Amino acid sequence: METTDAAFEPPIVPADTAARNARRQVRVRAPGKINVHFQVGPPRADGYHRVASSYLAVSRYEEVVVTARPGTAAQDITVSLAEASSLGAGALAGIPLDGSNLAVKAALLVAQLAPEATGVHLEITKHVPIAGGMGGGSADAAAVLVACDALWNTALSREELSRLGAQLGADVPFALMGGAAVGLGVGDELTAALAPTPLHWVLVPADFGLSTPVVYQRLDELREAAGTVVAEPEQVATEVLAALRTGDAAALAPWLHNDLQAAALDLAPGLAAVLDDGRRLGSLAQLVSGSGPTLAFLAADAGHAQELAAALQDSGHRAWAVEGPVHGAHILA
Ligand code: ATP
Repeated sequence: METTDAAFEPPIVPADTAARNARRQVRVRAPGKINVHFQVGPPRADGYHRVASSYLAVSRYEEVVVTARPGTAAQDITVSLAEASSLGAGALAGIPLDGSNLAVKAALLVAQLAPEATGVHLEITKHVPIAGGMGGGSADAAAVLVACDALWNTALSREELSRLGAQLGADVPFALMGGAAVGLGVGDELTAALAPTPLHWVLVPADFGLSTPVVYQRLDELREAAGTVVAEPEQVATEVLAALRTGDAAALAPWLHNDLQAAALDLAPGLAAVLDDGRRLGSLAQLVSGSGPTLAFLAADAGHAQELAAALQDSGHRAWAVEGPVHGAHILA
């Protein structure tokens, strides 16, 4: 077949057709995360803690549809929660639908940079447990950053979106980036980690949430009561990064660690029995995800994850087999 440069020139589209083709609606999905290895330093003067985190994006996604509302002002943002949520209607009660929703804040940040911005409607389908330690609100925010950028043709780079995201929360840059990463600082200083082979997990959500600041505060209290002095964490252990690189679940298993786990278990003692159930049913290793209360159980492979999820369900728990790493926030066709 003859190819010429002309074949790659964009077609000329009449102005009225271009206007009709302008995006009115963008659908984006963004993953929840688990922290495979999580070290937390002492509280800083500003109340935040320096962390060293090994993030893994997992195949449990939030989905957000952003629809333009022509003729409305950019600040005019409405939100609804889709009934299709797999979390159950009761679980959605705690989510604010006003300007305090992270997704609304994300839309406003992009609008400031978008001369074409109008009001939008955000429809959020929640699949990541709320206040569950998996960064669901951050995933919503990341999805909206990507969607509004596409809707308003702001053509922001991933770095610019990440900078906006960091203003909303430490986990937003990772929800944009996805994959596997090391997070330093308050978790937002990200470096991608190589993880070419998926690891398989079972997630067990709780039917309650834990407030992230409360879990950090309890960690500080527990350390103070025990006279434990910790140094600022500098880096994630090389063994963790090596196991991610080879996708070797057995090598990763002894390195699963979360400094927040003791605090989450202190606040929600019932989680310990669920961790024991997973151990008894054959998980390679298990831990609280982030600030909890979602629990993550490491499986040997996809088949093992399915079996473990089924066994945990038979023991009366909700359990989801997932894999990670997966892509960060991305537009769906
Ligand atoms: P993280 O681990 O990032 O601190 P999390 O996964 O434990 O967060 P989220 O579900 O992200 O918890 O949200 C925690 C709180 O943030 C909720 O209880 C809710 O009040 C508030 N919030 C604001 N926007 C959202 C949103 N879009 N989705 C869920 N919660 C939101």
